[in-house]
Amino acid sequence: MDFSYNENQKMIADMIQKFGKQNITPFVREWDDAQIFPVDVFKKLGELGLMGVLVPTEYGGSGFTYTEYVTAIEELSILDPSVGLSMAAHNSLCTGHILQFGSEEQKKKWLPKLATAEWIGAWGLTEHNTGSDSGGMATTAVKDGDDWILNGAKNFITHAISGDVAVVIVRTGEKGDSHGMSAFVIEKGTPGFSSGRKEDKLGMRASETAELIFDNCRVSNDNLLGNVGDGFIQAMKVLDGGRISIASLGLGIAKGAYQSALQYSKEREQFGKPISHFQAIAFKLADMATEIEASELLIYNAADKKNKGERMTLEGAMAKYYSSEVAVKVANDAVQVLGGYGYTKDFPVERFYRDSKLCTIGEGTSEIQKLVISKQIIG
Ligand SMILES: Cc1cc2nc3c(=O)[nH]c(=O)nc-3n(C[C@H](O)[C@H](O)[C@H](O)COP(=O)(O)OP(=O)(O)OC[C@H]3O[C@@H](n4cnc5c(N)ncnc54)[C@H](O)[C@@H]3O)c2cc1C
Repeated sequence: MDFSYNENQKMIADMIQKFGKQNITPFVREWDDAQIFPVDVFKKLGELGLMGVLVPTEYGGSGFTYTEYVTAIEELSILDPSVGLSMAAHNSLCTGHILQFGSEEQKKKWLPKLATAEWIGAWGLTEHNTGSDSGGMATTAVKDGDDWILNGAKNFITHAISGDVAVVIVRTGEKGDSHGMSAFVIEKGTPGFSSGRKEDKLGMRASETAELIFDNCRVSNDNLLGNVGDGFIQAMKVLDGGRISIASLGLGIAKGAYQSALQYSKEREQFGKPISHFQAIAFKLADMATEIEASELLIYNAADKKNKGERMTLEGAMAKYYSSEVAVKVANDAVQVLGGYGYTKDFPVERFYRDSKLCTIGEGTSEIQKLVISKQIIG
C-alpha cells in the first residue's frame, strides 16, 4: 500500500490550509469561547466541494473516495476540530445515509443540496435514555394512511438547530427487535418537528449539539429510506464508514497538538537549553510521533477496505478506537510539554485537550469499539 498523498489529497490539503489561514484560524478562539457554529464557513467549505466529498458528481458532489475524505477531515481538524466534527457529521451521517440507502428519486431530491452545503444535514440516532444501546430507542413512527406520525426526541444531535434536513432512526416495531426501527428524512419546517436545548460543552464548542423534538410530526411514506424495519441495520452500516471520519478527526487533533508541542519544545529554554534536549520531553515527542503514525496506518487501511467495497467493521472500529485514545493522550502530553502555557488559551493545545475527548465518545465510545472488535475477533 502506498501511503504518500495522491494528487487529489495534495490539492485538498493545500486548499484547506490556504482557506483556513483566512477563514478559520483567526476566529477559532472566538467561536470556541462563545460556542458559535460558523455557518458561513460551512457554506464556503461547501463551495470548495468539502460537504459532498463522497457524493458522486452526478448529484453535485466531489466524487472522491475515503482516502481524500480522511485527508480533508484531518487537515480541517488540525485547524479546528469543531469544524472537522461538523464536516464529518454532515458528510458521513446525514448525507452518507441518503447516499447509501436512498432511492434514486430521494438521492436526486436531497443530495445536490447537501453536497453543496446549500442545506446543512443532521443525523439522529441517540436519545436521552439510549446512547450506546441505541436499539432501545423510544421515539416512534406510527403509520397513518400514507403517512407516518413521529413522537419523541433525539439527543446530542450535531446541527439539530442549524440543520435544514435530518435523517432520523425511530421505532416502527417492537423493542428488542433489530428490525423494529426505520429511517426517515425530515425537512426543517415540517409541522411538529423542532429543535430543543443546545448543549454547553467541554470541547467541540464550535460544533452545534442539541435536541431534535417530534410532536405528532407527520411525514410522507416517500421520506422513508429503504424498507420499514431496515433503519437500525442501515445506521450500523453508516457508522462503519462514520468511524473512519471520527478516527481522522482524532488524527488531526493529535497532529495539531504534536506540531505545537514540537515547535514549543525547540524554542522554550530551561536550565540553559531547549526543553526538547531533556529526554523526558524528547521521549514524549517520540511517543506522540509513533502513535500518530500508527493511527494513520490504521485509518488508511480501513479507508482502503471501504474504497474497495470490502467489509471493514473490524478495521473501522480499530482505527476509531486507537486514533481517539491517541488524540486524548497526545493532547494531554502536549499540554504537559507546554507546562503552564499549555494550560492557557494562548496556545491551541488547551483546546485540543478539551476537543479530543469527544473522539472517545461520539459515534460509539471506546468501550463500544472494544465490544465490536472483540465480537469480530472472537466470533
Ligand atoms: C458532541 C457530540 C456530538 C454528537 N453528535 C451526534 C449526532 O449527530 N447524532 C447522534 O445520533 N448522536 C450524536 N452524539 C451522541 C453520541 O453518539 C453518544 O453520546 C454516544 O454514543 C454515547 O452514548 P451516551 O452518551 O448515551 O453514553 P452511554 O451509552 O450512557 O454510556 C455511558 C458509559 O457507559 C459505557 N457503556 C455503555 N454500554 C456499555 C457496554 N455494553 N459495555 C461497556 N461499557 C458500556 C460507555 O462506553 C460510556 O463510558 C453526539 C455526542 C456528542 C457528545
